[in-house]
Amino acid sequence: MEKTRTKKLFIFFNPAAGHEKKVDLFENRIREWGKNNGWRIDIHRTHKNEDLKKALRQRQKDGIDVIGVAGGDGTVSEVISAMAGIDLPLLIIPAGTGNIFARNFYIPFNLEKCLSLLNEGSEVGFVDLMLVNGSYRMLNAGAGFNARLMISTTRDEKQKLGFLAYLKNIGKSLKRTHQVEFVLTIDGKEERIVGADVFIPNAGFGMHSWIEENLLNPNDGVISAFVTRPSDVQSFFRILWDAIKGKSRGVEVISRFEFKDELLVESDRPLPAQSDGEPIGTTPLRIKVVPSSLKLIIPVRESPLAGFESINKYFSRILNLPILEEQTSLKIPKRIFSDQNRK
Ligand SMILES: [Mg+2]
Repeated sequence: MEKTRTKKLFIFFNPAAGHEKKVDLFENRIREWGKNNGWRIDIHRTHKNEDLKKALRQRQKDGIDVIGVAGGDGTVSEVISAMAGIDLPLLIIPAGTGNIFARNFYIPFNLEKCLSLLNEGSEVGFVDLMLVNGSYRMLNAGAGFNARLMISTTRDEKQKLGFLAYLKNIGKSLKRTHQVEFVLTIDGKEERIVGADVFIPNAGFGMHSWIEENLLNPNDGVISAFVTRPSDVQSFFRILWDAIKGKSRGVEVISRFEFKDELLVESDRPLPAQSDGEPIGTTPLRIKVVPSSLKLIIPVRESPLAGFESINKYFSRILNLPILEEQTSLKIPKRIFSDQNRK
């Protein structure tokens, strides 16, 4: 009988955040896991401004079964862009502070547990992406306040503080935010609306709040756009709070729209724009829904490998506080990857 071929995992690894010793140790753990679990693993350290698509095309000739990415959301975003047109599943190995995208899918943060998804307890989910001004993006896009906030928060701050890094810069970004008239063309239908911010999330913040459970499903072929007008820090938090509680309309939450095909965001004067936290110039912003276009390896609901990090634990870790005991009864909600959306 023919011997089963050893499968091959090709990993893009962004070592930027770690110290040399830690980086080597991390790679050794990956290789060790591969040796013991029947995977041939090739690790490619990424560097700044590298053409990842070219690197991927070259390695593809040796036959890759799964593409891996070890890094934070920025690296994941770059790899997803490079994967356009390449029909292989992706394994995200969280190695950043935030890793918001991975949190959406309960991908374990423990390295060995995460690698184990290659052999057990996982399925391939089909995840929607957005084509934002021509680039594939996974998390969100926006113009106005959110773009100012994300652009003013440095990579260094994000690596140190994660989500909290943004809180630090809210006041500063709001000061420079003004109201404009937005013209939104939503699946061909035009809406005019005055606001200071338009935010288009494809996925949640990995905190599993009401809004994420109900409005930000990255597997339904629908993307929401929120137009708000935060005027000061208090009103920003009011908007956030209303959204988390499920109120879709308050004084400062002006509107939510949904689109299935394309959203064009124009404004009467140019506003800074971002996608996946990176600056992408100014408005207009054209976002196309690319449904079920990423094959992502995720834990199945019942899997003990599924990683769940509560908000408490997350903040405790960032703030270096003692971590409270986790409830043992946390359940993975049913919402992601309903059968009807499977290909
Ligand atoms: Mg969706």
